[in-house]
Amino acid sequence: MTAKEFLEQCRENEIEFIDFRFTDIKGVWHHVTYDIDAIDEEVLENGLPFDGSSIPAWQPINESDMVLKPDFEIGTHFIDPFTADPTMVVFCDVYNTDGTPYEKCPRSIAKRTLQYMAEQGIGDVAYFGPENEFFVFENVVIRDEINSQCYEVDTIEGAWNDYIAEFGDELNIGHRPRTKGGYSPVPPVDSMMDLRAEMVKVLKEVGLQTFVVHHEVAQGQGEIGVKFGTLVEAADNVQKLKYVVKMVAHLNGKTATFMPKPLYGDNGNGMHTHQSIWKDGRNMFYDPNGYANLSKVALQYIAGVFENANAVAAFTNASMNSYKRLQPGFEAPNILAYSAKNRSASCRIPWGAGEKSVRTEFRFPDSTANPYLAFSVMLLAGLWGIKNNAEIYEAAREPLNEDLFELTLDEIKERGIRTLPATLREAIYAVEDELAKEDSFLKVTLKDGSRVFTDNFLKTYIDYKYETEIIPVEGR
Ligand code: GLN
Ligand code: MG
Ligand code: MG
Ligand code: MG
Repeated sequence: MTAKEFLEQCRENEIEFIDFRFTDIKGVWHHVTYDIDAIDEEVLENGLPFDGSSIPAWQPINESDMVLKPDFEIGTHFIDPFTADPTMVVFCDVYNTDGTPYEKCPRSIAKRTLQYMAEQGIGDVAYFGPENEFFVFENVVIRDEINSQCYEVDTIEGAWNDYIAEFGDELNIGHRPRTKGGYSPVPPVDSMMDLRAEMVKVLKEVGLQTFVVHHEVAQGQGEIGVKFGTLVEAADNVQKLKYVVKMVAHLNGKTATFMPKPLYGDNGNGMHTHQSIWKDGRNMFYDPNGYANLSKVALQYIAGVFENANAVAAFTNASMNSYKRLQPGFEAPNILAYSAKNRSASCRIPWGAGEKSVRTEFRFPDSTANPYLAFSVMLLAGLWGIKNNAEIYEAAREPLNEDLFELTLDEIKERGIRTLPATLREAIYAVEDELAKEDSFLKVTLKDGSRVFTDNFLKTYIDYKYETEIIPVEGR
């Protein structure tokens, strides 16, 4: 769609405001709004100025003028269902004032990653299907009138369990799932059905196609299946999904969170990510003679992700909390192995997938990842595997079909099985190592000589994670 067609669409829908949105390094969605009367084709094509110094880890104050360029081509713009006045939301890429793409704009990095894949002749489309799980918390504080003790926010279904444990069940509201018992008794145990349905209807309005909608394993946890898309489209959809889920919960007096491990002792929130590469209309991951219909290219892709897993994790599991989720026993595997049907392997091959649908499902990522960066980094690691004819490391070269959560640490060591890092610090160390290498999978170059991930961006990412997650104090 061109700028002109976009404006026509705005007029047809009697739009009064245009909301320009962009994503920072962490993955936070930002916006600036314009009265539609201030916008014309020329403004849309030239881009809109904004202050790049007010976004974490972007520009210094003395170089703060930046430009937002709306992207109509991908077609992910939508009418905001939550505003009082008709408002069109459009995804933007960030540019420097000289017209070049900004090296720290995650959405531009995603586009450059795709350009690299095409230039290398490996594929023309990469599909991504993320599954962003979430919890819904009560944001009323439960207060014990006698002791005027406050209880902190809790899941909508879990809050009463703590209260009742202490004060008996005169206030018992009845049915609720037990720990790890949320998947999938019908109501009244599942009390979130209407809330999820409301989310689904709004998601449909903003252009997301949903399929399975369900309560997840933990108390107060839910998931809405969204149709896969091309890399940038799928990442845009993650931003939309988070926005809609949080807003619908908020308007219902509740708080939704995608935090990886909010509750000790129950399942956490994942962002399993399904992936495949296509070329000339063919799924490059498909071979009817391979294990679970996987081609050699798919195995090389998996090998590339496993070989580079430590640095990949810094982007796919981007918070300290991420690593609390990856404990054995909570369906969030940290063991680098692949297997059909096996949810204790970090790469599951969904059962029964054929020519059109064979794909890898990496199960370790979570929603504290910036989706543009996480998808790009996984893709680059996989492309590295394909380019280098990588083989999956020996201990996991054959699929590991057993329950890997049962393995003791000694067994993992003895068998030479590899895992993801145990902390964000280790993952960031691995990015530091990549930065020091000549030929890192993260340091690939486009034909015009520019880098997909610049050194400056990688340094910024490392520092930002130290400052905000690992050692958020001065003097490290
Ligand atoms: N919640 C689990 C995780 O953290 C996944 C559960 C599932 O989807 N089967 O990844
Ligand atoms: Mg799912
Ligand atoms: Mg799930
Ligand atoms: Mg899944």
